[in-house]
Amino acid sequence: MEGLARASDTDAPVYARGVHKSFGATAALRGVDVTVHRGEVVALLGPNGAGKSTLMRILATAVVADAGVVRVGGADVVAEPRTARARLGIVLADERCFYWRLSGRANLEFFASLHGMRRKQARPVVDEVLEAVGLAPAADRRVDRYSTGMRARLGLARALLGEPSVLLLDEPTRSVDPIGSIELRELVARTAHERGVAVLLASHDLHEAAAIADTTLVLAGGEIARVLDSGYDAAALEAVLVAATSRSGAATRTQRSTGPTGHSPARP
Ligand code: ADP
Repeated sequence: MEGLARASDTDAPVYARGVHKSFGATAALRGVDVTVHRGEVVALLGPNGAGKSTLMRILATAVVADAGVVRVGGADVVAEPRTARARLGIVLADERCFYWRLSGRANLEFFASLHGMRRKQARPVVDEVLEAVGLAPAADRRVDRYSTGMRARLGLARALLGEPSVLLLDEPTRSVDPIGSIELRELVARTAHERGVAVLLASHDLHEAAAIADTTLVLAGGEIARVLDSGYDAAALEAVLVAATSRSGAATRTQRSTGPTGHSPARP
């Protein structure tokens, strides 16, 4: 099994193998493997400059890798970027791209129209995602009256409009208060498990990773330094992160193989 991807890995909604990306002389990613299965939450942890954003942008089809294979929802991000994008929902920190003077519902109806849905078709879909993120009672309130946590949930609702098979979340709770963060985390985990969505969550919040990740990847120096199962609390994750970060210079010179989980490297 060692060195071989699981047979089902190749069908996983997020499938990335041997991803390299350099910006000039800076190697941002050096042979990264990531798999996220249906219904799985994978957290991506790492210090600033580790390569998290670069990896997320490659998956989002915003940046093209120098080498490697990347598939999102079964679509190759280079050969079929439009298909890949259609299978993707993206949630960013500090959601700012809503029309603040419009209601949550009106915003979602607008974004549904961008997905090609007609008004009549959009209405039940918008109602469903509002219900799913707990915003149905506030659906007709203006977004500028929403709390930061409610806006973050509206961001998740927007990402769900196109029934994505993959959700990419980049620090979704960065500006959200602790209670709002807990609510959003639970929603993300429920979304993965109940809808079978593959979730990749980049975060600096170790509590968040510990709370909802089925698998945590520690990225350091452009490589996956550790692959951890869900048995780590925030303190344990912090210890692993610090150790991996201090070793990352050495890690870049080490030959890595694909481990049994389909991520690189094998568990130490
Ligand atoms: P993270 O998100 O983990 O902080 P990034 O992916 O943003 O890491 O960055 C990884 C490395 O790539 C860093 O050294 C960063 O300076 C470099 N980098 C990222 N994007 C660019 C870019 N567009 N141009 C030049 N260097 C970049």
